[in-house]
Amino acid sequence: MEKLLYHFSEGNASMRDILGGKGANLAEMTRIGLPIPNGFTISTKACLAFLDGDRTLSQELKQQIDQYLEEMEMKTGKQFSNPNSLLLVSVRSGAAISMPGMMDTILNLGLNDQNVEYLADLTSNPRFAYDCYRRLLQMFGNVVYGIDGRAFEDILDDIKSSKAYSSDLDLTVDDLKEVVRRYKEVYQANQLTFPQEPIQQLYDAVKAVFASWDNDRAIVYRNLNHIPHTMGTAVNIQEMVFGNLGETSGTGVTFSRNPNTGENELFGEFLLNAQGEDVVAGIRTPKPISSLNDLMPKIYYQFNAISEKLERHYGDMQDIEFTVENGKLFILQTRNGKRTAKSALNIAYEMAMEGIVDKGQALMQINPSAINQLLHPMFDPNQVANFPVITDSGLAASPGAAVGHIYFDAATAKEHNLMGERVILMRQETSPEDIEGMVSSAAIVTSRGGLTSHAAVVARGMGTCCVVGCEDIRIKEAEKVVEYPGGVLHEGDLISVDGSTGTLYLGEVPTIPSEADERFEKIMTWAREIADMKVRMNAETPSDIETGLRFKAAGIGLVRTEHMFFGSDRLPHMRRFILAENDQERQAALDNLINFQKEDFSTIFQQMEGLPVVVRLLDPPLHEFVPSSQEDIAQVAKQLEMDPAKLNRRVLELHEVNPMLGHRGVRLAISYPMLYQMQVQAIIEAALELKAQGINVEPEIMIPLVGMKEELKESKAFLEKRIQAIFDEKGDTVDYQIGTMVELPRACLTADQLAEDAEFISFGTNDLTQMTYGFSRDDAGKFIQSYIKDRVLAFDPFQTIDQEGVGELVKIASQKARASRPGITMGVCGELGGDPKSIEFFHNIGLDYVSCSPFRLPVAQLAAAQATI
Ligand code: ADP
Ligand code: MG
Ligand code: MG
Repeated sequence: MEKLLYHFSEGNASMRDILGGKGANLAEMTRIGLPIPNGFTISTKACLAFLDGDRTLSQELKQQIDQYLEEMEMKTGKQFSNPNSLLLVSVRSGAAISMPGMMDTILNLGLNDQNVEYLADLTSNPRFAYDCYRRLLQMFGNVVYGIDGRAFEDILDDIKSSKAYSSDLDLTVDDLKEVVRRYKEVYQANQLTFPQEPIQQLYDAVKAVFASWDNDRAIVYRNLNHIPHTMGTAVNIQEMVFGNLGETSGTGVTFSRNPNTGENELFGEFLLNAQGEDVVAGIRTPKPISSLNDLMPKIYYQFNAISEKLERHYGDMQDIEFTVENGKLFILQTRNGKRTAKSALNIAYEMAMEGIVDKGQALMQINPSAINQLLHPMFDPNQVANFPVITDSGLAASPGAAVGHIYFDAATAKEHNLMGERVILMRQETSPEDIEGMVSSAAIVTSRGGLTSHAAVVARGMGTCCVVGCEDIRIKEAEKVVEYPGGVLHEGDLISVDGSTGTLYLGEVPTIPSEADERFEKIMTWAREIADMKVRMNAETPSDIETGLRFKAAGIGLVRTEHMFFGSDRLPHMRRFILAENDQERQAALDNLINFQKEDFSTIFQQMEGLPVVVRLLDPPLHEFVPSSQEDIAQVAKQLEMDPAKLNRRVLELHEVNPMLGHRGVRLAISYPMLYQMQVQAIIEAALELKAQGINVEPEIMIPLVGMKEELKESKAFLEKRIQAIFDEKGDTVDYQIGTMVELPRACLTADQLAEDAEFISFGTNDLTQMTYGFSRDDAGKFIQSYIKDRVLAFDPFQTIDQEGVGELVKIASQKARASRPGITMGVCGELGGDPKSIEFFHNIGLDYVSCSPFRLPVAQLAAAQATI
């Protein structure tokens, strides 16, 4: 016979899958000798068999229940319907993953018209007995028969108000008998009867809990939280203990530490003369747990000791339910407590310092996403409800809470910011030309694009609050209005943007500051010490680099050189290069650009002194640098002293149908070797000059978008030739590496060939995801969201690595690369480099580092540590 039941004394905390969270912890607490009322757990296996079968309790299960009940009767000396020693039980649902409010609990099971009299005699407290009975009728009717709880509540309210009682404690025995009578009428009105036989009550209750796994609410909840539907729930049958026996009894729910601040003090509530669910139900206002110290000092002392013991045992802050029956304490539940970000950090730090947990365990307590909350200001949660929502359809692209006046183009935003105004840039989408307006803005909002769109990536890089893809608003840039479901916004209107939730509010929502402090620094130091993988930053501007160094980046994993050509002093030269008609003109333009580039690299290398820096050579399609509207073409022609007709012709020539798959990355270099040669010359000369000043740099030069080994071989050859020429000319050398970005499926599958030439590899997961799915990352926002809604996709693969597809390619590539060049350094520089789940995957396949936006460093460092632990 398959074992379907477990006494609490047979299980332990590791058996969550079979016993559910509640059952596993009741077993564990029994095992370590805490005062737990006797009981047993019906396993999730029995639930699954029930759901798969004809939805009746099998003979086998009933037999086992009878047997366990008998054993429970022996242990407790109590029996169902025994007038001298009456057994009553609770039936408590509990799945492996807690699903709050989904499935219910029945208390006082075993009472009936006869047993209620026995209970009254046994306790000499008929009021108590009838209070228990009416509760049972209420819960049983609701949970087992699905009778609306209101039907019962109304009766109770009716009697209370007809007698002008203020509290349920005022109800007399006769009142409660009346309640019981009328509750039975509710059953009758629904053509139902309350089963008088205790064992029948128990079977019915178990069935109801099993069936509740499949109710609509539960299914919706599991869908929302990505909980598999195939787990089933366990059911716990537990001897009742009574908190409603009078003034020496009571019940409480208490955290072992303060879940809001993390302070090491009991935090919770206690209610005298009450049964479990009264505390949560808010029937009477509970007292703070500290009041227990006055009411029952011994119990308070004992509870404190148990709370500490549980913390030590579980290595985490606990959320504990307990009941006092006639001056005797019983623990009814414990679990790891939910807490705020600030509290999480404080608790982890203090528990480590107190020696309750080691550093690794402390780090495991902290949810990486909580770290984000700590670094960015947030809207005051107590006030946010007072402000109308403009839209919550947007994607939370970069956290923060920003307030400002809206503008629809970069130049106007910048202008108003220079006048001292807080501004928010609102555009359908952004492009590199908008960069100055983006820098000036407190937040960036777009109506199109996903989490790897230009706006999202750049904002995250700058640590600027950003919401993208607000599908239900229309940003009319030309008319300078925004239409949203509730109205219209005009230029200059004041709005609040929550980059952590994606919600926009009308007006100025008050913010509260971020809370990073020394403890935060300590925790992050532990994380960096423990993590196997290093975390670098994607950065090229001095302020970004400074931010990243403050967060102790292990280097730069990606310098995007295309960002260096948009400054107003460089753009004309870049344009001359692109628009040139022969090599001579091209070289002339590059001769101007090289000085800017040298300065750029020199600044970066100096800031990063001693730390590795990966410089990616120019990647994007050239047409991004040239004007598109007729107006702009005319203006640029004038600036470059070019014939507008000729310029127009070149613009048309450069136009590409699919620029993302077009003339970009290494393909540019094969067409115009002199472009990458210029960049490499700038890198090497900057490094040589710094070397002369005693500053050591070892540049890692990265060639993007390589798909064939010949591309890499050829470009590497002409770069090395130029570098050798510089070494010869200067009579000095520096160490450098030439590597490649792996971001095409073909590159992954031929990574062994690429590694013959590549001295390092960095996975560009944005392009790799785009190219693997064939999802344009700038357009996918729309359908990815509906895919997720329809459950075609479980998550956005631009946000979290798709392990089966994209991840598999990365894994294959890393194995092949390692086989052909043992010890090759491999990293990740896409957006996934900052995502905790993806980081765990990259750790598991043995990559050396991930690289992410400077503001995501702490999250990534913590995730890397957690992956190691
Ligand atoms: P939930 O998961 O909704 O918290 P529980 O199964 O924990 O449901 O029970 C609801 C309430 O009833 C809790 O306050 C709990 O402490 C109390 N309770 C459950 N079983 C017993 C019991 N055997 N004796 C006394 N109170 C109980
Ligand atoms: Mg509970
Ligand atoms: Mg790329």
